[in-house]
Amino acid sequence: MATYDTTNQPPPFENINLYTANPSLTRAVAAFGGAAGGAALKAYGEWAGSAATIASGRLANANPPRLIGVDQRGNRRDEVMFHPAYHGFMAHGFAHGVHCSGYAPGGGPAGDGAQVVRSARINMLSQVEAGHVCPLTMTHAAIPALADEAAGTPAAERWLSRIFSREYDARLAPAATKTGVSLGMGMTENQGGTDVRANDTSARKAGDAYVIDGQKWFMSAPMCDAFLVLAQAQGRLTCFILPRFDEDGRRNGLEFQRLKDKLGNRSNASSEVVFNSARAFRLGEEGRGVQTIIKMVTQTRLDCATSAAGIAYQALAQAIYHARYRHVFQKALVDQPLMQSVLGDMALDVMAATAAATRLAASFDRAAANEAEAAYRRILTPAIKYWVCKLAPRIAVEAMECLGGNGYIEDFPLALIYREAPLNGIWEGPGNVMALDLLRAAFREPEAVEAVIGGLVTATNGHAAARQAAADIAAALKAGEGQARLAAERLALLAAFAAMVEADDPFAEAFAQSRLGGKYAASYGAAAEGHAEALIDAVMPPV
Ligand SMILES: Cc1cc2nc3c(=O)[nH]c(=O)nc-3n(C[C@H](O)[C@H](O)[C@H](O)COP(=O)(O)OP(=O)(O)OC[C@H]3O[C@@H](n4cnc5c(N)ncnc54)[C@H](O)[C@@H]3O)c2cc1C
Repeated sequence: MATYDTTNQPPPFENINLYTANPSLTRAVAAFGGAAGGAALKAYGEWAGSAATIASGRLANANPPRLIGVDQRGNRRDEVMFHPAYHGFMAHGFAHGVHCSGYAPGGGPAGDGAQVVRSARINMLSQVEAGHVCPLTMTHAAIPALADEAAGTPAAERWLSRIFSREYDARLAPAATKTGVSLGMGMTENQGGTDVRANDTSARKAGDAYVIDGQKWFMSAPMCDAFLVLAQAQGRLTCFILPRFDEDGRRNGLEFQRLKDKLGNRSNASSEVVFNSARAFRLGEEGRGVQTIIKMVTQTRLDCATSAAGIAYQALAQAIYHARYRHVFQKALVDQPLMQSVLGDMALDVMAATAAATRLAASFDRAAANEAEAAYRRILTPAIKYWVCKLAPRIAVEAMECLGGNGYIEDFPLALIYREAPLNGIWEGPGNVMALDLLRAAFREPEAVEAVIGGLVTATNGHAAARQAAADIAAALKAGEGQARLAAERLALLAAFAAMVEADDPFAEAFAQSRLGGKYAASYGAAAEGHAEALIDAVMPPV
């Protein structure tokens, strides 16, 4: 028997198709080359938004992984134990190719908008269980780095061919005995993360391999079968592939010190690791480690932006759902003019972020065959990662407030979303690093930057706000480091506007007017004037 009647509290937000309920995503996928994947994404959206999947995501986060460093007799185990819910997500991800589908076996583009379709999956996955996206992302991102070295490096060829299996094999066992493998990345050391040149992990040549000694302060997904790591070979930063097991089946010298106790992303393990005479194989030339691993990092940065767009969408969807149900002062919250302004203004950013991240994914599909798209990918990856990742925590905190007190309570989804939201902005290069990357591109290849910006203005049909933005970006880039964030943000806003125009988004004009010109306040609620209701229905149609 109920203690009292529960009224005015919405039922759980579940059994929603996360693909069809998100018109910005479906529109962008179709506009940017992913139409062939539409039916598969619809089925995927059904799975991702189901009550069962949401419950599994919560289980995986409530039961974080545990490191078994040594066994009861003192022998090293270095094994990480995960909740079955986590393994369920990994198996599903492998079956749907989230760890490999942007590429064809061999490492070339998979075609048919494969990166766009995959990015839609990352968007949806991040809404329900972002932790396991980390190893799926890193495995996928290792492909371009391995592919470029496969011809001259047997180890690269071996690992590349293993990645394309659709079977997840969670066992800690030699890769040659497994039906599927995952790959991670170790760059960040205790004394230097962004400044990788401060890395002092060493690599000593030994036959056809190298012996690695040193540490990594962050190395996520430590149960991966191999890692791309940076180490100094004769004082020159070099990239290596470092397997968990030697090819002869013996355990390699990786010792995990501990797992990080993280704010969010708790279903995923992030380790501190010591390399104790670990055997590894060189990828690329000695001294060109950054140039090799950046191919992996560029791809992971796309996933950061895509994942942040998904997290922002889920936060807003929760807020709209709540506001449609909850009544205050005899009206549904969603009909209160001020709440409409807040939700409508947030919707503009979420729609724009979705369009921008999906357009960026398309440039990864097209870059191999088109120099302009390769320049788009190079120059806009840091800018779009910068802006979309800054956006997600803002949306999460505002959405939390829309749920009132419930928003702050762990039983509701906003608490988990809020803790997850800042991470994409930190890993794979925090905001300043993205802004400085853009600045470096403007210095090294000014004509390419100018051409990309010109292309964005053309895509908006020469819109006056876009032309003004282009001038602002050029001035900010010229001003140097102090204005680099302004340049990155403006460039991302321009790219988002262009993507909305290309995708026929009915609110492209409203976005340009508020974000590139006009009225825009630091907190949401000022910019949706005149279209607030329509925006709310556009970002999440009522069901
Ligand atoms: C949960 C989690 C998992 C991770 N997993 C991995 C992993 O698997 N593999 C891996 O290699 N790393 C991993 N990382 C590390 C992550 O990539 C780094 O933390 C990040 O790149 C920043 O490096 P740092 O921590 O050394 O900070 P620092 O490099 O010290 O940066 C600190 C601050 O200084 C700013 N900054 C840096 N340089 C400049 C400059 N020239 N001018 C102005 N500002 C600057 C940065 O923007 C940042 O705000 C993980 C991190 C987290 C939180």
